[in-house]
Amino acid sequence: MIIGEWKPISEIIAKLLGYKKLLVVGCATCMAECAAGGEKEVETLAPLLKMAMQKNGQPIDIITKTLERQCEEEFIEELTPMAPKVEVIISIACGIGVQAVAERFPEIEVYPGVNTTSLAVREEPGLWAARCEACGDCILSETFGLCPIARCAKGLLNGPCGGTRKDGKCEVNEEVDCVWDLIVERARARGRLKDLLKIRKAKEWSNSRHGGPKRMLREDLRV
Ligand code: SF4
Ligand code: SF4
Repeated sequence: MIIGEWKPISEIIAKLLGYKKLLVVGCATCMAECAAGGEKEVETLAPLLKMAMQKNGQPIDIITKTLERQCEEEFIEELTPMAPKVEVIISIACGIGVQAVAERFPEIEVYPGVNTTSLAVREEPGLWAARCEACGDCILSETFGLCPIARCAKGLLNGPCGGTRKDGKCEVNEEVDCVWDLIVERARARGRLKDLLKIRKAKEWSNSRHGGPKRMLREDLRV
């Protein structure tokens, strides 16, 4: 899932100064799963913003809505009756949802209420950890299913760096497993340590950040 966390309330408030009518929009998919932007968070954030604006001497009317998915047009359409009633929208979906709403309603200011941070798994209740950075050239088949792009602090492809702690934690953060230690142990368990002796060449990044905006075209799905 995509994960994110609330921006500081003061940062959101700073964007709202001067506005009198606000719509707070959540997303019931990833941002609900990571407890940043689902219905519960929308209904928590809205009164907090109302109180803070009141305290600033700038009362604001707030309406709320949580869409099933804020990245898809058919759900975004549910905002159509509400949009003309507001001057500004705070979206607490991921950055995709914020942009999708801004594209649909270009005449209204749409601000993010969340900082989107990664593609992640929930490791335990209340703890999510990055697993993928959408690099566009997946190398998991060479690293025993563990991603050093997302999980190594230095993004090393021929790790480990030499700084791994004795307990297998990363030298950069003692609370995080060194992913290269995990890769080596998984290779050892499968009797394939020799595979790791092969030096991986510099990664093909043209599909990633340096290839211009990413797009995916599937001719077979087009109408
Ligand atoms: S190698 Fe790239 S696509 Fe594969 S999991 Fe890592 S970041 Fe994601
Ligand atoms: S200790 Fe491991 S995870 Fe941390 S930077 Fe070095 S190789 Fe990467």
